[in-house]
Amino acid sequence: MKTGIQHLYIPGPTNVPEAVRQAMMVPMQDHRAPDFGDLGLGLFRDLKTLFKTEAGKVMIFPGSGTAAWEAAITNTLNPGDRVLMARHGQFSHLWIEMAKRLGLDVQVVDLAWGAGTPINEFARILGNDRHGEIKAVFVTHNETATGVTSDVALVRRAMDDCFHDALLFVDGVSSIGSIDFRMDEWGVDLAVTGSQKGLMLPPGLGILGVSPKAIAASVSNRMPRAYHDFADMLRMNETGYFPYTPPIGLLHGLRRALDRMMDEGFENVFARHHRLAKGVRAAVQAWGLDMGAEHPSLYSDTVTAIRTPQGVDAREVIKIAYDRYSCSLGSGLGPLAGKVFRIGHLGDLNEGMCMTALSIAELAMAAAGVQVRFGSGVAAAQTVYAEPVARAVQRLHAAE
Ligand SMILES: *Cc1c(COP(=O)(O)O)cnc(C)c1O
Repeated sequence: MKTGIQHLYIPGPTNVPEAVRQAMMVPMQDHRAPDFGDLGLGLFRDLKTLFKTEAGKVMIFPGSGTAAWEAAITNTLNPGDRVLMARHGQFSHLWIEMAKRLGLDVQVVDLAWGAGTPINEFARILGNDRHGEIKAVFVTHNETATGVTSDVALVRRAMDDCFHDALLFVDGVSSIGSIDFRMDEWGVDLAVTGSQKGLMLPPGLGILGVSPKAIAASVSNRMPRAYHDFADMLRMNETGYFPYTPPIGLLHGLRRALDRMMDEGFENVFARHHRLAKGVRAAVQAWGLDMGAEHPSLYSDTVTAIRTPQGVDAREVIKIAYDRYSCSLGSGLGPLAGKVFRIGHLGDLNEGMCMTALSIAELAMAAAGVQVRFGSGVAAAQTVYAEPVARAVQRLHAAE
């Protein structure tokens, strides 16, 4: 028998605010009713603000982030198209595997898990692609497996520098809604996210930003798709409706989640994530442990991967946290299994929750055999969180 709160500090699904949970508990309604379209229209409008796109459209598919990955590919590319992708973590790996299954000719740049998108290597490859054989460049904005955020603007610049007109696909599943994302400014053609991360909802929605260029590509491409067809979706979305029964409860939850984020202010949401992440990183530093990200410029504001010392199985840390302290920490994925555990710090989160995660991590690490001084990480985070919020936000804005 477990008592108290079951703590959830994984990078998705994230904690759903009580108000959002309640907003989803609606009596079922007619999704063809004359006034139902108002809900959809409002969601599309506010998602566009979040994605920072005026020129593009944002579509909501039933499914998860993986469904939106697939929709992005099948609507805009052709079988056999050459695409450029980097593998530096489990999510970039899975997107590569999907692209291969869908019949794309994937040029993979393999990197250490912990690296960011290889801007220079991409620039070199694109520069040498004189005949424009590469039809799309894929970027994992935030590699959730390693806690690495890459610079999408630099990828866009590399493409522009050699006048390359490939489509730019970006996986923003664990960034959009938590880390600043600028679809139009960065020239992103397909921007993928899901409901269960920064948007603080249960899983069930795959959300996709599409540029006018991506929509144009979808008119002439030849990859089969039916359920995720852009044309059907866009036609119905025009008036706020969907081509099939949408997940009505989740749409109401999304409405409430966006309202909460807009009350806080999207920029303040991003600043809060940065501040909370800084506290977690200060703790890891105080523990003397290495992070998954191989350079500080790559540190993610939504998830931190922590490498356990030689001889300590990270799975043991996770198991102890779960069994003894009712706390879910993220596991090491793929080749990182047993080598890292992860703290997800995104969504509906505050300082107290981060300190809870850190103090439980200290207990679990100590029990698993890590030399850790109790309170050292928590104290380091407290030092960060003691700084008044207003000043931290001001400093963040000044730094931009
Ligand atoms: C969670 C996640 C996904 C997709 O996952 P689903 O389980 O299909 O929602 C894709 N990419 C990244 C970076 C993620 O963090």
